[in-house]
Amino acid sequence: MTTPTNRRVFMLQVAVGAGALSGSHAALAQEKLSPTDSYAKTMGFNVNTKDVDGAKWKKHTNDQQCSKCQLWDGKPTDAFAACSFFGDQHTPAGGWCKNFKVKGAA
Ligand code: SF4
Repeated sequence: MTTPTNRRVFMLQVAVGAGALSGSHAALAQEKLSPTDSYAKTMGFNVNTKDVDGAKWKKHTNDQQCSKCQLWDGKPTDAFAACSFFGDQHTPAGGWCKNFKVKGAA
């Protein structure tokens, strides 16, 4: 049988656990996306759009970069910002991946 004290302790543990999960998500979201991440590699992610292999990624052009992508949550002056495609991990303004979608496009 659960006593009022046990219930109070349980509720405190739930609250602390939820806070820890929320904090770890925030920490993950602020991480920079690694170009060695397996999914990032699959998507052709490169920290510098000018270094993208045009022979492999035929739709790539050097004017495509994260700061011009609708999935990038930064201001034009930001060096890094969250990319919603990669779970809000941060990508550099001059980065690129094959999921590039120009801002303002449908
Ligand atoms: S989806 Fe857009 S912002 Fe994200 S890595 Fe690819 S090009 Fe950059």
